[in-house]
Amino acid sequence: MDDNAPVITLKNGLDLPALGFGTWMMGENAAHAGDEVKAVRRAIELGMRVIDTAEMYAHGGSERIVGEALQGLRGEAFLVSKVLPSNASYNGAIRACEESLKRLRTDQIDLYLLHWRGGTPLSETVWAFETLKQQGKIAAWGVSNFDVEDMEELLSLENGENCVANQVLYNLSRRGIEYDLLPWCQSRNIAVMAYSPIEQGRVLHSPELIHIAKAHQATPAQIALAFLLEREGVMPIPKTSNLQRLAENAGALEIELTEDDLERLDRAFPPPVSKMPLEMI
Ligand code: NDP
Repeated sequence: MDDNAPVITLKNGLDLPALGFGTWMMGENAAHAGDEVKAVRRAIELGMRVIDTAEMYAHGGSERIVGEALQGLRGEAFLVSKVLPSNASYNGAIRACEESLKRLRTDQIDLYLLHWRGGTPLSETVWAFETLKQQGKIAAWGVSNFDVEDMEELLSLENGENCVANQVLYNLSRRGIEYDLLPWCQSRNIAVMAYSPIEQGRVLHSPELIHIAKAHQATPAQIALAFLLEREGVMPIPKTSNLQRLAENAGALEIELTEDDLERLDRAFPPPVSKMPLEMI
């Protein structure tokens, strides 16, 4: 990744590369583990060093893959994991984090997220996150799948303003957050991690995307990622276990979309004109 690659600056002052890496569906099948470990390691080498996982993925299997991949590379990576809402009580979150640390074979998670909002009062989860921070088990915390109303409530709580990121569904075919949540987060310097940034492959067949890709001698996935990388404070986290597609995704950093490209994309994937409830996958 070159020196001009886009960067996200977290509220705590830390600069991160704007293109990260997802690991959902890794750790499901032992026959693929070797390739998955290689993909995580290669992502870090390519500069996609924000590695996103969760206790939920493959019931801890994804964290185990990441833990294996990070052997000897822990210092290079920025590690993100998530606690399930069913574990988000004070004691539950502390226990879940300790279990994640064991699977990840590290003593600190760089960013720990509440995967989505459940029945536990937010204040209790924030208390657990702040305790984990004091204990050095996490360096920072955030949330995932929170719409504006949830964010408002979170930030009204004691220490709620310490939230540094919100990980949400965002890609060309899911632009609802541009209406309100994205500007809301941007104005408060809360990073938006864009999950399913190529809509799990489903947007790649769009004729408009294919047309723009051809004009740039690029691929539809690269254009879909470049569209997100254009936006301030947005970090797409594409997942792949395939080294060729990984190199392709990293290539999105080289693409500069023109005004004409952006207008074409707006016509094919119209931005929201009114409030749309936050979608989840
Ligand atoms: P993505 O949009 O990243 O798409 C991943 C899928 O697309 C995989 O099947 C992958 O297959 C394929 N793919 C990747 N690159 C290419 C390419 N260049 N061309 C064609 N196909 C490609 O979807 P995800 O849902 O995985 O989202 C990314 C990450 O976001 C997750 O892995 C996870 O870390 C996070 N996430 C978080 C959620 C949350 O609630 N917080 C919810 C969903 C995801 P292959 O591996 O075979 O290349």
